Amino acid sequence: MTRIAIAIHGGAGTITPASMTPELEKAYKTALQKTVEEAYSLLEAGGTALDAVEQAVALLENIPLFNAGRGSVFTKEGGHEMDASIMCGKTLGAGAVAGVRSIRNPVVLARTILEHSDHVFLAGSGAEEFARKHRLAFEPEEYFYDAFRYRQWREVRDTDLFMLDHTGDRKFGTVGAVALDADGNLAAATSTGGMTNKNYNRIGDTPVIGAGTYANNSTCAISCTGHGEYFLRAVVAYDVSCLMEYKGYSLQQACDKVVMEKLVSFGGEGGLIAVDASGHLALPFNSEGMYRASKSNQQATYVGIYK
Ligand code: ASP
Repeated sequence: MTRIAIAIHGGAGTITPASMTPELEKAYKTALQKTVEEAYSLLEAGGTALDAVEQAVALLENIPLFNAGRGSVFTKEGGHEMDASIMCGKTLGAGAVAGVRSIRNPVVLARTILEHSDHVFLAGSGAEEFARKHRLAFEPEEYFYDAFRYRQWREVRDTDLFMLDHTGDRKFGTVGAVALDADGNLAAATSTGGMTNKNYNRIGDTPVIGAGTYANNSTCAISCTGHGEYFLRAVVAYDVSCLMEYKGYSLQQACDKVVMEKLVSFGGEGGLIAVDASGHLALPFNSEGMYRASKSNQQATYVGIYK
């Protein structure tokens, strides 16, 4: 039987029931459910995994609840710098952007690089120039303004502190999606505003192929969220794929090894979403919580926040 499957995340971290109001919890759950079901409909109608993950991530980028696109956190300078990447498991084609400003949907820019560039990874003003050339949507500073995020940044802007968005009282996060389409193709995409008060053009794992995002039809598709400095050095997404490819691990075994053992002993907090070529889904995390949702033709819509 042909299988189709999708999973999305909206960030992992210190997310507990005590830190949440009923209204906020409902808002997150509704956003996750609508997004996963919309992207699933695309797969059901015969759409590609690549289109489904791009659409899911773009939808999440437009929701201020999440630290990506519109809801991106403030940098040390009081602006927004966004990172995103996308990968096709069939062709191993990939597109990635780092440190871009004013782009409405960084994941659409990553996809445009995949489709229309000989390069994989563009950064800063060059990436913005490429976006202008391809007539992608730009937004003014006000579009990215969020009162809570502004307060969050003001508390630390005169210090050398920088923080993951999901520490503190209210929790937000990076967004991502993985999918398997009816033709058996896998894809993954991830997008983030990075860390509050980040400085020196800091870049995390999100736009780095193999660290925050990876897809390969012969193994799996992965999108990560967590403390980027650890995910980068642990090459998390590719590590899961390698355990399947070279050691014959199942998706679940590979995810457990990397997220619950290797990352934990390394000190890397966070999680990932994954789907393999047979449509098995895994959504492991070693933090208190992870905003997540999934759906397949074998499984009804699932939405979760806490452990
Ligand atoms: N991994 C992202 C980064 O370090 C942050 C996150 O997942 O929330 O930029």
